[in-house]
Amino acid sequence: MPPIAPRVRLLAHTPNALSLIYAAFRQCYHAGFAGDMWDRLAAGEIEPDKQAAFVTKILASGHDSPIEHVSFTFAAEGVSRALTHQLVRHRIASYSQQSQRYVNASDFDYVVPPRIAAIPEARERFMSFMAECATAYRDLRGLLETSGRAGAKANEDARFVLPQAAESKIVLTMNCRSLLHFFELRLCERAQWEIRALAGAMRDLCRQALPVIFNAAGPKCARLGYCPESADFSCGKYPPAPAARGGKKDGLLKKKS
Ligand SMILES: Cc1cc2nc3c(=O)[nH]c(=O)nc-3n(C[C@H](O)[C@H](O)[C@H](O)COP(=O)(O)OP(=O)(O)OC[C@H]3O[C@@H](n4cnc5c(N)ncnc54)[C@H](O)[C@@H]3O)c2cc1C
Repeated sequence: MPPIAPRVRLLAHTPNALSLIYAAFRQCYHAGFAGDMWDRLAAGEIEPDKQAAFVTKILASGHDSPIEHVSFTFAAEGVSRALTHQLVRHRIASYSQQSQRYVNASDFDYVVPPRIAAIPEARERFMSFMAECATAYRDLRGLLETSGRAGAKANEDARFVLPQAAESKIVLTMNCRSLLHFFELRLCERAQWEIRALAGAMRDLCRQALPVIFNAAGPKCARLGYCPESADFSCGKYPPAPAARGGKKDGLLKKKS
């Protein structure tokens, strides 16, 4: 059960993504039928640059639901259960995660937070606790099997001693609109480091595949030009929200002492 590094791969995305988004946008503003326009797009009659310019212009107006027609599917491994618990809170998405019932975790891998890894004493304590968890898991699994609960039935109870650091594998699908929202939240400088790294890797893959939508993808402050967090939570890269600059206090979020 060694420490493990994260890996994310783009498995697939909706084919003809730019043309599909273009056709969906055009259907909103055009008297003709997108079904007929699709043939013209397939025949190359409308240049990709022209499609991209149209999509960019309409997106800038705030009309963004047509980009929901294109989805991206990723596979991630080497990420912690702490990460996947945060990830699956994003509801406008689909997930398929490795089961801790059907997969025996006797030799589970785990993620070591870099700041813990950087302190030799902390790293050693962390690793020894991982070894204790694995021993407890195996012991409990063995006892459960002896009592007649084999395979998945033993795993499903023994897993209660697995740590949040335990490695997981997950396949996820999000449409472009949901991805942009995910990136706005999770690419914030102050987002938790592991999910921020995953979001960064996913954003890079999206940019390569569909730059017209994802070139500008980033934290919310980059789009707004100000930090939507209260002053206590801002990284300081952007100025506070206009209301906060006017002296209005955000009474909802207070820094915990
Ligand atoms: C910095 C940070 C700190 C966080 N801290 C905590 C925490 O301490 N505790 C905690 O529980 N969570 C926490 N979260 C998770 C957060 O509350 C969200 O659950 C998560 O970010 C998913 O965001 P979302 O709901 O916007 O995304 P999605 O679920 O993908 O939803 C996308 C959008 O769809 C709309 N939507 C979806 N479902 C509904 C609905 N039922 N009703 C109305 N509109 C809906 C909303 O506009 C929403 O923004 C944190 C997130 C961040 C980024």
